[in-house]
Amino acid sequence: PSTEAGWHFDNSYARLPDLFFTEMQPNPVDSPRIIALNEKLADELGLEKQALKGEEGAAVLSFSARLAGTFPLAQAYAGHQFGHLAMLGDGRAVLLGEHVTSDGKRVDIGLKGSGRTPYSRGGDGRAALGPMLREYIISEAMHALGIPTSRSLAVVATGEDVYRETALPGAVLTRTAASHLRVGTFQYAIGAGGVESVQALADYAINRHFPHLKAEEKPYLSFLREVMRNQAALVAKWQLVGFIHGVMNTDNMTISGETIDYGPCAFMDTYDPGAVFSSIDAQGRYRYENQPVMASWNLARFAETLLPLIHDDQEKSVPLAQAVLSEFGPLYEETWQRGMRAKLGLAGEEKGDEELLQELLELMKEHKADYTNTFRALTIGELKELALFSVSAFQKWHERWLVRRVKNQSVEASTALMKQTNPSVIPRNHRVEEALEAAVERGDMQVMEQLLAVLADPFAYSPEQEAYTSLPPKTLKPYRTFCGT
Ligand code: AMP
Ligand code: MG
Ligand code: MG
Repeated sequence: PSTEAGWHFDNSYARLPDLFFTEMQPNPVDSPRIIALNEKLADELGLEKQALKGEEGAAVLSFSARLAGTFPLAQAYAGHQFGHLAMLGDGRAVLLGEHVTSDGKRVDIGLKGSGRTPYSRGGDGRAALGPMLREYIISEAMHALGIPTSRSLAVVATGEDVYRETALPGAVLTRTAASHLRVGTFQYAIGAGGVESVQALADYAINRHFPHLKAEEKPYLSFLREVMRNQAALVAKWQLVGFIHGVMNTDNMTISGETIDYGPCAFMDTYDPGAVFSSIDAQGRYRYENQPVMASWNLARFAETLLPLIHDDQEKSVPLAQAVLSEFGPLYEETWQRGMRAKLGLAGEEKGDEELLQELLELMKEHKADYTNTFRALTIGELKELALFSVSAFQKWHERWLVRRVKNQSVEASTALMKQTNPSVIPRNHRVEEALEAAVERGDMQVMEQLLAVLADPFAYSPEQEAYTSLPPKTLKPYRTFCGT
């Protein structure tokens, strides 16, 4: 590995068979300029911030120059997009390699918006500044909420325009991730290379993410189970904070269990099981309530690619894989229930807990209550601002809850649990848009910096957070999000 500005690069992914990637050469841009730099993340990675900041840093982070030790490549992968299998690959992303931290952790360093690749199809390989800053804000908010995710190290403006409906300022985002291995990478392996390729990939993934499985008798079946567990845990966390990913295609579901691909995602304000924000998700395939269903569907596609490895006799593989897949539902449900009990500040399990929870959700749905603020109000005991406050069914519910929450614990303990579990702030869409508008239209980064500061500690319940809990103005049109911008 090379050392420059604290980087220790290697690219183990590049040692996979050639069909998994295409090597990429730098794509010089006009005048790269660093717009946002995540100094805390740089510290965590052991990087020298000075070297990231200068012209040189901007050149590296915009892919105008190649850093020693990197092996820049575009990954090949396939994916079920809204149910239809397609050949995809990194159309506007480049993996520079893995940064190996001083404690030996491997972190993918990838660029998004860095130019065309052999997998770009009709696309321009570019990204606009607004959407890259949006990914920066939301992925960092997710991290602070304790949700596994890719993170954002920097956004560099390229000084070049990208053309969408209008000309927009272009940018490159630098992301970190445990890896970029996805369900779609396995679908590509089995389709383009066959059993040998999928085995090489599975061995690579096990070695990187689940090395303890190597000694197992059925390592590939256990691998399937670990990925299933990661994704069940991930989607339960999304549900608990009201995060809607928006494009849970199999190419966007990681083996590591991290959230990736912040295109059309959004947090819901009003509690609505049917909530959809993505402009292209007309059928509501990836609506809020359907996220666990879709995760399970994606895992079945993943399992299919592993069948030849699970057992020499494919007929024996199928029931083995099915048994693992059938664990998803109960595991997800249990994780979600446990999370919801914590949100309500309940200790232990009591008869009637499930009804108590379901009744609250029903009331929230019926009265279009704000998801985050309802739990926040219960946490701090200030219910007066809630629309639900005057609803008599809610008042009855509230009395039952007050009795239940002090079973097995003190009220202080219950409140403490709720404060650790219910965020006081989330990246509300109108706040994110306001920050992006200031940054992109006026070159004013302060609004975004203040928002990031508040989102960095979502469980603080600090006075500065109050202003960020307000709901979007009623006059706003329904919020819509877009892919590939
Ligand atoms: P996504 O919906 O973000 O998962 O993207 C699906 C596919 O479209 C991936 O292969 C992306 O690399 C590709 N893609 C998205 N935007 C662009 C773009 N502007 N240029 C080239 N490829 C793109
Ligand atoms: Mg994607
Ligand atoms: Mg995307």
